[in-house]
Amino acid sequence: MFHINENFTKLPGSYLFAEIARRVKEYQTSNPGVDLIRLGIGDVTKPLVPAVIKAMHEAVEEMGHQDTFRGYGPDYGYDFLVNAILKNDYESRGIHLAYDEIFVSDGAKCDVGNIQELFSEDTIIAVTDPVYPVYVDSNAMAGRAGQYINGKWDRLVYLPCNAENGFVPELPAQPVDVLYLCYPNNPTGTVLNYAQLKKIVDWAIQNHVLIIFDAAYKAYVTSEYIPLSIYEIEGADQIAIECNSFSKTAGFTGTRCAYTVVPHAVKGATKSGKMVELNAMWKRRMSTKFNGVSYPVQRGAAAVYSDEGKIQIRNVIAEYMQNSKIIREGLEEIGYTVYGGKDAPYIWMKVPDGQDSWTFFDHLLKDANVIGTPGSGFGPSGEGYFRLTAFNTLEATIEAVERIRKNG
Ligand SMILES: *Cc1c(COP(=O)(O)O)cnc(C)c1O
Repeated sequence: MFHINENFTKLPGSYLFAEIARRVKEYQTSNPGVDLIRLGIGDVTKPLVPAVIKAMHEAVEEMGHQDTFRGYGPDYGYDFLVNAILKNDYESRGIHLAYDEIFVSDGAKCDVGNIQELFSEDTIIAVTDPVYPVYVDSNAMAGRAGQYINGKWDRLVYLPCNAENGFVPELPAQPVDVLYLCYPNNPTGTVLNYAQLKKIVDWAIQNHVLIIFDAAYKAYVTSEYIPLSIYEIEGADQIAIECNSFSKTAGFTGTRCAYTVVPHAVKGATKSGKMVELNAMWKRRMSTKFNGVSYPVQRGAAAVYSDEGKIQIRNVIAEYMQNSKIIREGLEEIGYTVYGGKDAPYIWMKVPDGQDSWTFFDHLLKDANVIGTPGSGFGPSGEGYFRLTAFNTLEATIEAVERIRKNG
């Protein structure tokens, strides 16, 4: 008899976006022709920049000629891309990584979801709350989260991030083995400065905790005091793995390219106390289960680091961040309490007193015809908050803020 991995049966349904779609559809059915503005989009909306498209066209052309055709690429990425990453994302900030510490992949979601294969079954996982659900669900599928009871997994350690603590997680009192961090944060749009991140890194070094640092939104940082990589903090290369992506940086959500950094110094213990490099384990894992990102896509990703590419991408991000500013400042002017949105494309607002996240969702949908995302969908500490995103057009963003001003 074939038996299934029963951990899957413990997962709650992917309730959040399905429930949003259901409520929107119901409202549209009873109000045909209503013009809704979506500020719930968690995906980029502007096209790939010309430098990327040109590089991809050229690479596709190469694939059609005998003398430039390429089959399987190197397991961990082509050298033109790995070297561009090392030079532009790290050496430019004084971080020296080895060539074989970079692993090019088809997505940060895959990498943050797959990395838990390196952990023992009984690893204690800590996450910030609210949270990007992949960290939680991937560990739940592997049986590390325990049981899902009243909206929480009973073996996970939740570190609340809320207005009271300035969205900076307090270090857990109980022992944990792995901590997932995402800064700039999805969903709150908040950041950690050097001192705040250093405190967490120092704690991790002292307690032999592995940090999985998701830097998917680093390209949106404009404030000067914000680290773009966890390796800007001394000693982090002993305890941190960093996941990066071209998705939000350069519009690659539909094109797929990312990379993860696994320094040689990061080690984990066997039950008998032997220390093993996670780099060697991840190499083994990737060469066994992954066959690389397509050549044209890696050429496109490398063009992100060309002089034209850098300028073009900066302009796209500036457009999103203009939307972010319009939402943030508009809502503040109206009288809402607003967080994030300065170094991230997400604005995290407090819902008015006496309402919960879903009540406010319904109110905005029906009275302002604006769709956002209820904070409670990202974890228990998201209750009482609401997420708006900067990924719509300028016109729609301005119009949405006007509607909230009139009817919000
Ligand atoms: C969008 C996003 C990613 C990027 O995932 P890809 O698979 O590279 O597209 C990673 N982490 C977070 C928190 C995100 O919001």
